Amino acid sequence: MRIALLGPPGSGKGTQAQRICEAFDLVHLASGDILRAEKASGSPLGNQIRDFIDNGLLVPDDLMVELMRQKILDLKKGFVLDGFPRTLPQAQTLNRMLFEADRPLMLVLNFVVNPKALSRRFEGRRVCPVCLSVYHIDSLPPQNPGICDLDGAKLIIREDDRPEVVQKRIATYQETMAPLIAYYAQLGNFKTVDTSSSIDDVTHAVLEKIRRHFEDE
Ligand SMILES: [Zn+2]
Repeated sequence: MRIALLGPPGSGKGTQAQRICEAFDLVHLASGDILRAEKASGSPLGNQIRDFIDNGLLVPDDLMVELMRQKILDLKKGFVLDGFPRTLPQAQTLNRMLFEADRPLMLVLNFVVNPKALSRRFEGRRVCPVCLSVYHIDSLPPQNPGICDLDGAKLIIREDDRPEVVQKRIATYQETMAPLIAYYAQLGNFKTVDTSSSIDDVTHAVLEKIRRHFEDE
C-alpha cells in the first residue's frame, strides 16, 4: 500500500498515520520528522535545509522533493506520507517520480474536520512552560485544572493556539491546499474522511475506508 494523507494541522494526521502503519505494516514518512533528522545529520542537503528553517522560511519545493525522493525510493515496504506533498508542484513532481519508479500512490485520504471541532483542538491545548508537557482540556487533562502533573507549574496557552492565530492558520492551510485537493480528486483514488470525532472513532473509520478501497481494487 502506498498512501498519502492530506489534512489541516490538528486533523490528526500524525496519530492516524501511525495507526495505519501498525495495522497494515507500512512505514510512516512524516515530513516534519524527516526534515528535522536531515537537518541534524549535517549532510549537504541537511545544511541547505537548516538555512531555510533557521531563517523562518519554508523549505523550497525542489529540496523537499529531493529529500522525500530518497526516503521513498529506499523503501522496500509500503508507506504512508504525512505532511508531504504540501504544494501543487510537490504533488506533481511526486506523481511523476512515483510513476517512473513504477510505484504510484494507491490512495490519497483527505482528512476534513468541522471548523468548530478543529478550533477546539487548538484552543483546548495547554503547555507547561517548565517541562514543555502538552495537555488538552478535553482529551488529555491534567489531574488538577491548569496545573502541570509533573512539576506543579501553571499551564499556559501557546501563542500559536490563540483563537485569532488558529483561525489564520486554518485559512492559510485551506488556501494553499485547495489546488492540491482538486489535483488529487481529478486523478482518482481519492477519498475524504471526516476526522471530527474522537481519535479511536476516527481510526476505526480510517481503517475501514482503507480496507474497502483495497478490496475494491
Ligand atoms: Zn511541567
